[in-house]
Amino acid sequence: MEIADIRGYALSSPITPPQHRSFSGGTRLLHKRDVVLVVVETRDGERGVSTAGASSSAMREYFEGDSQGTFADLVNGPVADALEGETLAHIADAHDLIADAGLPSHLQNEAISAIDVALHDIRGKEVGAPIYELLGDSDDPDDPAPTTEIPLYASAGMYMEPDGYAEQAATIADLGFMGYKYRPGIGPDADRRTVDLLSETLDETEFMLDVHTWWKVRDAYDRETVRELVTHAADRGAYWIEEPVEPDDRQGYRELAATGAPLAGGESEESAAGLVELGRTEAVSFLQGDVRHHQGYTGCWDAVEFCHGRDVEFVPHNFGTWVGLLANAHLVAAAPDVRLLEYPVFENDPVLDAEQDPGMYPFDLAFDIIEGQPSVSDGVLTLSDDPGLGLDVDLDVVEEYPFVDGPWTEFRYEDDT
Ligand SMILES: [Mg+2]
Repeated sequence: MEIADIRGYALSSPITPPQHRSFSGGTRLLHKRDVVLVVVETRDGERGVSTAGASSSAMREYFEGDSQGTFADLVNGPVADALEGETLAHIADAHDLIADAGLPSHLQNEAISAIDVALHDIRGKEVGAPIYELLGDSDDPDDPAPTTEIPLYASAGMYMEPDGYAEQAATIADLGFMGYKYRPGIGPDADRRTVDLLSETLDETEFMLDVHTWWKVRDAYDRETVRELVTHAADRGAYWIEEPVEPDDRQGYRELAATGAPLAGGESEESAAGLVELGRTEAVSFLQGDVRHHQGYTGCWDAVEFCHGRDVEFVPHNFGTWVGLLANAHLVAAAPDVRLLEYPVFENDPVLDAEQDPGMYPFDLAFDIIEGQPSVSDGVLTLSDDPGLGLDVDLDVVEEYPFVDGPWTEFRYEDDT
């Protein structure tokens, strides 16, 4: 394929009015959610899309930086310069060209990821096949057929009272999701109480803790407290405990894993090689790569293959728009050992019908970015066999969601004031 044009659009979905969420020792402000939409066109007029970000959710830049606009500038500048006019025999050739473009190291893999996904979208359209049919080795008779019905777990709650989490979990269970993931961090006692309530409230539905906040809330959560909370959650049947310590604290992961608790991590790794390295520690039971961050399908497939035959399950990290949802869903559909996908729950989600809205906060762009809706029913996403990603981006969002300067979220600590 010959690349004719590459564009990145930085977009913002405002949270109006801004939300204030109290956690243990501070308040988190939520102003907006940012997305970079990447559109690649070939000389033949085929178009591929992807969404990208400047970093993954637990990385410092994501919380503290204003780097989405910068990232779009990189896509429109050095990334476009490196690829426009090039004829690519293989998608991986684009990885090499971007790697030679001199991008800041923490953004290089984000750019590679965005282009890799968009090029797979194009390749699928060229051959008339969904991306899940392009991945893996279709000549291998041991490779099972793709699974196009994908169980979802709901990624929802953030900093509520224990009763609030329990009510939300009940709603999520009624909607048919496989599990309920939430963000604790409201104080060790209340976090413990939340776990107790969830284990009492939920029957078939699993619960997971995404505790990327524990290591951000400073003194209340020392190592011993974290260890005690992890053990408690595991004893009460938590399906996993995600990012209980800083992502690069491998020793911390190992020590907690030694308690027998099921740990999850990976979203904060900067590369697919980092995912594999985390997997090699044998400290995580669930490895969370994301085609938007870990060098696209090409990179994530390496991590998926690493997990094959090992005691670690690849479960994609997925937090963003429906483009990202469908992009990661193709990986799940193609990979024989991968079966579960994260479904972020935002307010007013058109495919969820619940009396009490279980959404975390408004993120209208997450839905408006595509024409139509994904097929989600009773907690299961069904992928079509339409070519490529199987979606049409609504380019009106470029006008409707202009980029807003500034960080999307802020952590304010009481002891700083
Ligand atoms: Mg997470």
